[in-house]
This record gives sequence, structure tokens and C-alpha cells, in this order.
Amino acid sequence: MPKTCLAAVMPAPNAPVELREFPEPELEPGAALLDTMYSEVCGTDVHLQHGKLSGVPYPIIPGHVSVGTVAKTRGPLKTVDGDSIKEGDVVTFLDVHETCNHCYHCLVARQPNRCPSRRVYGITYSVNDGLLGGWSQAIYMKPGVKMIHIPAALAPETFIGGGCGIVTALHAVDLARLRLGESVAVLGVGPVGQSTVALASLSGAGEIVAVDGVADRLAYARRMGATQTVSLDTPRKERLSQVHGMTRGRGVDVVIECSGHPDAVSEALDLVRDGGRVVVCGHYTDNGAVEIHPHYQINRKHVELRGCWGSRYEHFHRAVEIGARFGGEKPWREMVGGKYRLEDSAVALGAVEERSVVKALIAMGTFSGVSF
Ligand SMILES: [Zn+2]
Ligand SMILES: [Zn+2]
Repeated sequence: MPKTCLAAVMPAPNAPVELREFPEPELEPGAALLDTMYSEVCGTDVHLQHGKLSGVPYPIIPGHVSVGTVAKTRGPLKTVDGDSIKEGDVVTFLDVHETCNHCYHCLVARQPNRCPSRRVYGITYSVNDGLLGGWSQAIYMKPGVKMIHIPAALAPETFIGGGCGIVTALHAVDLARLRLGESVAVLGVGPVGQSTVALASLSGAGEIVAVDGVADRLAYARRMGATQTVSLDTPRKERLSQVHGMTRGRGVDVVIECSGHPDAVSEALDLVRDGGRVVVCGHYTDNGAVEIHPHYQINRKHVELRGCWGSRYEHFHRAVEIGARFGGEKPWREMVGGKYRLEDSAVALGAVEERSVVKALIAMGTFSGVSF
């Protein structure tokens, strides 16, 4: 009997997620197969469901950050640390794959996150390309996919609680070139914003101001290291004067926009001090346009405005190390608001969409069907 595996498939934008059965893949040299433990459900998956990211080859198996046990390998595989990857090991992998190291973006601009060959598990692979998303009982590791062991000190739930959010946040905090004692405002404290607060705090920031419309999220941000919170219930003008009041009228040194609301980009430019830095990482998908006044908000303020697209291996690798070292101090694990069975993927997606949980997990262990 040929073995099969079940995966949750997003057939097309705005079509309901459905379970499909797939044959067990043949491993090409250098490939591996993971028995999935957990895969996350994040805001990007909600946007994918609504078709808000261009170039997505539906139908897809969503799930870009996952943890699994190595079920099979073909050929010797090693991590960047030189450790062998063996059957039974608990690993995670960088969802970004196939950056070419041959093009202008990779070699001259040195920004492989903009390489045109770049592919992302759970986002830019079709089901016709194979089991290349985490909402599946098994995930195919193509040759060259960067796997890393989940260290003994890091519970898989803690890592995946940070998940794609901590990796993106690390990239954003790097781009902000945060210095010890500087003030930071984080606009939007969903998964990326919460990790941004935590990493700003671990980086030795001074005042850390979390801004969001959900009271629970603001309370949680305090546990992640926010020193001040500002509610979106407060009118924008008042929010501005509150933040100015925290910084002797200057505005914060750094604003990291993680909300995905176009207006937040304009607000970020208002909240930052003259000569400060603004990093935009909440607009991974198209959430529309906003009017900016270049004279007052950028040029005259001498502001540095940077976009942050995806991540590179270095962010992923360091995120695992940070999770292992600080997972006890920062409550990433509790970010997971619900664990769902594979067949309840649509329910998990709904919970993230209506913001009743910060993050949801598809947990394979709870599935009773066939598995490799
Ligand atoms: Zn390239
Ligand atoms: Zn994500």
C-alpha cells in the first residue's frame, strides 16, 4: 500500500481551506522529509486567504514556520554549525529558499531577501511543487533548505510562539540600529510587534512604547518589556502628545511599524524625533495607500525611513539562539492562543483573523489519521 499524507490546502483566494491527500514523496539526493509537529498560523495566512499578496501560486499548502521530526533523509545533511541532521532529530528550517547567489540582488546589492529566485515555504510554492507548506502531516525539505536543531533548552512551543514574528522582528530591530538607552515606539503588537518589543528590551532600549487597539495585547506587551502603552482608543493627536510627553517633547528615537495599517506609517513619521529612524515591516501584504507629507514628515525632520522585507538565514539562526537563551524571560510560549488539529485549519485561521488569539498553531500530534 502506498503511504499517503494529509495536508490543508488553500485552493484559491477566498475559497475555504480543504484537506487533501498526497502520496509520500520520493526523496531526491540532499532532500529530507519532516514529520510535522507544529506549524504556525499567522496574519500572513489570513492575507493569503484573502488573496492580498501578489504572485502566490494557488492552490498552496500554507504554513511557513514549522517544527518537525526528521523522518527520512537522503544523503548526509548538516546544519551551518556542521552538526549532522539525522532521523529523529527535532528541527526547524528557514522557510525562505532558493535564493540564487548569482544575481545582482544576491551578489552586488547583497540583499538576497529581494532575489527574484527566492521562494518561501507555505507562500510561493504550489501544491503541484510538493509538500512545501507546514499545514501538512509531512513537509518535504528540498535540497539546500537550511535546517537547524531545536536546542534542548528551547521548547518547540516557545520557538513557534515567536515563529515568523521573532525572525521578522529581529531583522527590523537590526535595521533600526537600536542603541542602548534609546526610546522606541512599536506600532501594532501582534506577533511581530510583541517580538519587536521583546528584542528592543533585550537590546537595552530605554522607553519602549507599545501602541495597539487591543487592551489584552497592550497588557501582554508589558510582559514582553514595554514600559508604556498607548491605546488606539485615544485620538491620534492625543497619542502624539502622549508620546511626546514621554520623550521631553522630542518624539522617540526609533519607531517600528508592525501593524499593517497604512495610517500607522504616517503616524510613525509623526512620532519619531527629528533625525530618528522609522522601520516599516507591517506591510508584507498590500493593505492600501496613505498620504504622506514629504516636507514635514520626512525631509524637514531629516528622518531615516526603511522598509524591511522578509528575512535572511542569519535572522532565523539568531532567532533560534535567542529563543533558547531568553525563552524563559520573555513569554513567547504564551503567545500561542490556541492549538488546532489539521482538519480544523480553517477554524485556526478564523481565530487569527478575528484576533481572538495572537497566534494559532496547527498541532499534528492531535491528529488521529494516517501518518508516515
Ligand atoms: Zn539571487
Ligand atoms: Zn508568518
